[in-house]
Amino acid sequence: MEKDFPKAEKDVALNNYSTFRIGGKARYLIKASDKKELEKAIEKSLESKIPFYVLGGGSNTLISDKGFDGLIIIFKKQKPDVFIEEKDDFGTIETDASTPLSFLVGHLDGFTGLEWAIGIPGTLGGAINGNAGAFDESIADSIESVEVLEINKGIKKKEFKRKDCGFDYRRSIFKSNPRLVILSAKLKFKKGDRDKIKEKIRENLEKRRGHPKGFSLGSVFKNYYGEVDKAVVKRYPPVKNFQDKKGFVPAGFLIEECGLKGARIGDAEISSQHANFIVNLEKAKSENVLKLMNLIKKEVKKKFLIDLEEEIQIFSPQTIDKYFI
Ligand SMILES: Cc1cc2nc3c(=O)[nH]c(=O)nc-3n(C[C@H](O)[C@H](O)[C@H](O)COP(=O)(O)OP(=O)(O)OC[C@H]3O[C@@H](n4cnc5c(N)ncnc54)[C@H](O)[C@@H]3O)c2cc1C
Repeated sequence: MEKDFPKAEKDVALNNYSTFRIGGKARYLIKASDKKELEKAIEKSLESKIPFYVLGGGSNTLISDKGFDGLIIIFKKQKPDVFIEEKDDFGTIETDASTPLSFLVGHLDGFTGLEWAIGIPGTLGGAINGNAGAFDESIADSIESVEVLEINKGIKKKEFKRKDCGFDYRRSIFKSNPRLVILSAKLKFKKGDRDKIKEKIRENLEKRRGHPKGFSLGSVFKNYYGEVDKAVVKRYPPVKNFQDKKGFVPAGFLIEECGLKGARIGDAEISSQHANFIVNLEKAKSENVLKLMNLIKKEVKKKFLIDLEEEIQIFSPQTIDKYFI
């Protein structure tokens, strides 16, 4: 392995690669600066029979304190290449999965469709994987196609059209199948009025101002789109109001109603600003976070008969099996 990856760092603390500042050590870590390097790293790890895991900005991944006895590939580039092709009223943008989402928002001069993404950390690859979104929009709305490495017995390069990506609310085929590694994507945007675009970006930033500041992964659970028990709806009229107005019940509302704001285990705390955020006050462990998440699920189930589903991804020895090739 050392021969194959002379540039790999060894025994690397992964907390530095997550916005949550949580995570044990990885045996190896490589920063891939472009898709060729990413591909090469994956090829080598398959040859060496060392499991790998790709991270972008680490802003949606809870990394276990137990770390990873394998290779972490960081696919994130601060100054990426973004190619824009204009035709009629549209622009097609092609860029690597390593491009930070915020960079893309800033780069879309005169095109509309990504204003919702302002303030969301992480990369395009991570956003496509989790179909990131906000304010009723998501990355799926702009995707034309995604270039992917499919890893089975060997490696195959494939193009997935949007309809093949299995996009749904915070879902994609990539999220459910870690053998699909995203290399790059083509996105399509409409030309728009520059002042209106700026204004929308400003408004969206303003909406985020109330979000907790510290180390976090953003929203931990998905909002609830399913049916709610009739007796529960009767007992909690705001549930019906949310369903009628928004079409879902916000996870933050459910957690707050359970009186869990400010609940703390170790240094992990359910934010008192926004109940669907868990913040790492300083030295939180992944175990602390998992326990808080279980507490949330248990209390919400008890009070509302609702099973909350995680929005964040959990990367731990229990989930690592599926990354073995
Ligand atoms: C303060 C804050 C606010 C946030 N607000 C929002 C929000 O409004 N809406 C929202 O949707 N999210 C939000 N998030 C969550 C997160 O920022 C987004 O989901 C982001 O798109 C994740 O990107 P990432 O590169 O950091 O992903 P990572 O955490 O690095 O990875 C997430 C998953 O994607 C996989 N992955 C990463 N890159 C690739 C690749 N190239 N190919 C295949 N798989 C890959 C990883 O293996 C992992 O399973 C927020 C987070 C924070 C901290």
